[in-house]
Amino acid sequence: MKKIKVDLPENSYDVLLGKDVFKNLLPLLNKKGIYNNCLIVVDKNFYSIYKEMVDKFISEYKFKINKVVLEASEKKKTHESLDVVYNQLIKHNYGRDTVIVAIGGGIIGDVTGYAAATYMRGVQYVQVPTTILAAVDSSVGGKTAINFGETKNVIGSFYQPKFVLIDISFFKTLPEEEILCGIGEIIKYGYLTDVKLFNYIVNNVEKIFDLDETPINKLVLESVKYKANVVAADEKESSIRKVLNLGHTFAHAIEVEQDHKIKHGQAVIIGIACALYLSNRLELIDDDELSGLMTLILKFQDHIKLKEYNGRSLLKIMMRDKKNRDGKIKFVLLNEIGSIVLDAEADADDVIYAITNGIGLFIS
Ligand code: ADP
Ligand code: ZN
Repeated sequence: MKKIKVDLPENSYDVLLGKDVFKNLLPLLNKKGIYNNCLIVVDKNFYSIYKEMVDKFISEYKFKINKVVLEASEKKKTHESLDVVYNQLIKHNYGRDTVIVAIGGGIIGDVTGYAAATYMRGVQYVQVPTTILAAVDSSVGGKTAINFGETKNVIGSFYQPKFVLIDISFFKTLPEEEILCGIGEIIKYGYLTDVKLFNYIVNNVEKIFDLDETPINKLVLESVKYKANVVAADEKESSIRKVLNLGHTFAHAIEVEQDHKIKHGQAVIIGIACALYLSNRLELIDDDELSGLMTLILKFQDHIKLKEYNGRSLLKIMMRDKKNRDGKIKFVLLNEIGSIVLDAEADADDVIYAITNGIGLFIS
């Protein structure tokens, strides 16, 4: 099992990663001195596939243990699901000596993390991400949240888990669309990290889609390492952590404009394409650099298709974003691989240019 430390001023923790490592959950809890009453919050689809494994853990657990099975849907990432968790905790008299274990993708992790952060002003929390996206993104860094009405992740807190356990063997049952989502976030790390990792991804795209163990292990590890370092440097996203938003201002707007018919990871790939065009337009990268950087994006043209989009609506959605000032929108852009420009301001014409070219690559 590989170990990556998320080194924080308070509450540092390890991300443990490997194949077939779920069986280590119980020994890990013991090793870390977490001898508490436990509530498992598990994703419904995941549980239907891995019931035996989860039930085995439950049967071997020595203290009080109960389970909540939740459906992972953006619509249910609300108080409704949170109430189900609180209900179980209160019904079974859980006290402050509780550990809540989230087993599932980003939605389960976010809801459960927020429940752990708020129940009795905070109980222990462990994450077992079961999607690639959650493994490389939401499970590391302590962001927890639920949606409110139409607004995503608007109620939440920073709350770090005791540890994160990533079992890459769980990825083999992910629907193809979910694999693509994880890849979207992984390629972001290719741009953020260095040329070596970027080229490795370019040369292994097909193997990644096939969930070949070697590249998956390496890329999840490298992504988590990168994110762990950034989070350690800026836990509450006041500065450098913003690099993780590469492609995301565009991506979030695309998700809203497409009425959430496009998944986050796919929107991130399109969003990075837009960010690259914008970097070129603002002369951070020249035309040759742009075409070099696009090689990775172009590998996804056959995998992501949009029917149509409305550039003006996209712009409006981005303008609404809290990050803008004086009619200008702020973006995370690229100087070169591994060199990021934070808070780059662009005006409407530049943004429309970037959208037209970036999204244009994916219109069927
Ligand atoms: P993320 O935000 O990490 O992409 P979600 O919580 O939205 O993840 O879950 C995505 C979908 O994948 C859900 O339908 C969920 O039930 C399903 N899922 C999660 N983990 C697995 C797995 N290991 N195998 C199969 N399906 C899974
Ligand atoms: Zn993301």
